[in-house]
Amino acid sequence: MSNLIADDPIADNQVADNQVADNQVADDQIAKSTTDVVSSSDSRDPHTINADLHCHSFYSDGTLAPAALVQRAKANGVQLMALTDHDELGGLAEAAEAAADLDVRFVPGVEVSVSWGGETLHIVGLGIDPGAPDLIAGLAGVRSGRDARAREMGAQLAAVGHPGAYEGAAALAGNAGLVSRTHFARWLVERGACDDVRAVFLKYLVPGRPGYVPHHWSRLTEAVGWIRAAGGVAVLAHPARYRVGELALAAMIEEFRTAGGEAIEVASGSHTRDQVRRFARIALAEGLEASRGSDFHSPIESHADLGYAPVLPDSVVPVWHRW
Ligand code: AMP
Ligand code: MN
Ligand code: MN
Ligand code: MN
Repeated sequence: MSNLIADDPIADNQVADNQVADNQVADDQIAKSTTDVVSSSDSRDPHTINADLHCHSFYSDGTLAPAALVQRAKANGVQLMALTDHDELGGLAEAAEAAADLDVRFVPGVEVSVSWGGETLHIVGLGIDPGAPDLIAGLAGVRSGRDARAREMGAQLAAVGHPGAYEGAAALAGNAGLVSRTHFARWLVERGACDDVRAVFLKYLVPGRPGYVPHHWSRLTEAVGWIRAAGGVAVLAHPARYRVGELALAAMIEEFRTAGGEAIEVASGSHTRDQVRRFARIALAEGLEASRGSDFHSPIESHADLGYAPVLPDSVVPVWHRW
């Protein structure tokens, strides 16, 4: 295994201060001014393309329709985009059609929930065939436990003074099969329990807090296998978000690569400048390609708007050279 704590081969000036999302921005001040947008029109060089390969529609826990997402991406200068709903492919046809109409290059995607060593990981699949049977069946299995989990979350929240949370969250979900913690968080904000979704995730829905229900998602090797069998590339999503130390991270990446994972999301809307540098270094050391995605969910909640994730350092290979 390569050394994840090697000296930083990436020069400081490759990621300038103003190129990274400030994840301290208030919820109503979605990061645009503090992030970089790639503006070159050289369509041959992947480093100069504004690619946003991670976002959500209301088929999972985003608030916009797939076509509205594509319109927003286009307006923000995105040239290549992927829709990556959690465990769900239902929005891809609409997004692809809107992208064709607006002359935005489109990559079908998904974000698969995985349980790994007590942590939930997210594996983005890019360039997948939405008709691939193993992927369809695998995702149906991953989704199947959500309703029972959501009911238990509702029971826990009722016990701390928030009755009706399950019904409330379900009513906010665009997809009855995909009631997520985000929908509970939105309902708690509507109810006045917290000021915004981010505040909810400090007080509720996380380990040790009311509304957190441990869940078994898919296995890492399964998720990567479904993506590969669908002709896609597996990307380890927002790696800075996992609460693991250096050794566990190395083990995670080793298992991901052994399963056939080929890329890591170096530039996420939720990554700081230092995190972009750290994961660029890891991508280089591990021979992984690099992805970039805002992880946009909603105009009022997300760290970064569509097209406004940090840019990739020049040293890494953008995964979208493939498309
Ligand atoms: P679930 O798949 O039901 O566990 O919901 C996970 C979703 O919750 C993620 O995809 C995020 O959209 C959202 N989420 C998790 N943690 C946070 C957080 N700290 N702040 C805002 N949203 C979060
Ligand atoms: Mn989400
Ligand atoms: Mn995620
Ligand atoms: Mn996501």
